Amino acid sequence: MVEILYVFDFDGTLINTGKGDEKQKNIYRVKTGKEWQWESWWDREESLDVNIFDHTQIVDVVSVYNNVINNPNILTVMLTGRKTFLSEHVEVVLKKNDLTYFDRYMYNYGGDTLTNKKDQIFNLVNEIDTIRKIVMYDDRDAHISEFNIFGGELIKLGFIDEFNIYHVKDGKIR
Ligand SMILES: [Mg+2]
Repeated sequence: MVEILYVFDFDGTLINTGKGDEKQKNIYRVKTGKEWQWESWWDREESLDVNIFDHTQIVDVVSVYNNVINNPNILTVMLTGRKTFLSEHVEVVLKKNDLTYFDRYMYNYGGDTLTNKKDQIFNLVNEIDTIRKIVMYDDRDAHISEFNIFGGELIKLGFIDEFNIYHVKDGKIR
């Protein structure tokens, strides 16, 4: 019976995908001979191209994943702000890093990342009412306190009994 939900963010939490900054645009330039011509970074499949970028595991978080992935009482979910149309590209990066055993792979199907993630988590605990505890890993500073408020609301409403979020910063769990 599933009693615990583990939610792992993708960029900067499970995988070092970089910051979409000049350093990465320079790698793109060197590898392809072309300029990064788009305004967006995160909405481009090129940002996930394994032939251009070396996307590496965040070892500490992957070790948590490895500890929970075979536990039948735990539902393990990858939940990212990357849009649904990038799912294949995200999954190529996950596959390359041996992260292929998630129970669910969830993408942003609309709206801002925070709201969409909260909606999807709410839908999960609503769908699987045996879930009593949520554990999250995320790297986005500004989202940590927001998720804590959200978790508190879920407890108050009786959906769950316990909520924990771990902040991943510079490849380390805080
Ligand atoms: Mg992230």
